[in-house]
Amino acid sequence: MDKNPDFNSQEVKKAVLGLKKNDEELAYLAFLTVRGVKPLSRWEKPLDDNGVGLLEQMGLIVRQVRRTVKTGAEVTETIFSISDGYILVYESRFADKPVDKSAQTVRFEGYLFGFPPCCVDEYIRQPYAKNGLADEKQKLLFYWACRNCKITKFLLPAYEKVYNLLNGI
Ligand SMILES: [Zn+2]
Repeated sequence: MDKNPDFNSQEVKKAVLGLKKNDEELAYLAFLTVRGVKPLSRWEKPLDDNGVGLLEQMGLIVRQVRRTVKTGAEVTETIFSISDGYILVYESRFADKPVDKSAQTVRFEGYLFGFPPCCVDEYIRQPYAKNGLADEKQKLLFYWACRNCKITKFLLPAYEKVYNLLNGI
C-alpha cells in the first residue's frame, strides 16, 4: 500500500515541525523521502517512539531493523519509505545481519537510497573526490556526487525544492 499524503495538511506540517525541533537533518531526510526524491532512507541514530510516530504522521512506513556490528553489539536502524516494497527489500537483505561496508552492499544501499550509480561507483573507487560542485549544493545531498555528474544535475533541483519547502514551514 503506497500512501500519498497531502503536504498541505495540518497534520503533515505539524509532524514536520515536531521533527525539525528534534533534528533538522532527520526532518529533511523524511521530507525528501515523502516527496519521493529518495525511495528509502535510513536513520542510524537512536529514535524514540515519538520520533517514529512523527515519521508515520508524515505518511511514511517506518520499521526498526536490528543489526550487529563487528564487536558483536546490536544496533538499531530506523528505515522509512512511502513504499512497502522498498521496506521489504531492505528487511529481507539486512534485518538481523551484520553491518558491512562491502562495495556490493554500498551499491545496493545506493540503489535503495536513490543515489546515482555513477556517484556510488566513484565513491567506492575514491571517496570524496573533487566533484566541481559548490559546497552549498553538495551539502544538500546525502551522497557524494561524482565529477560533472549528469544525473545529479537533474536531482539537485528536487533536493533544493524540498530543502526550501522545509525551511518555509
Ligand atoms: Zn554521478
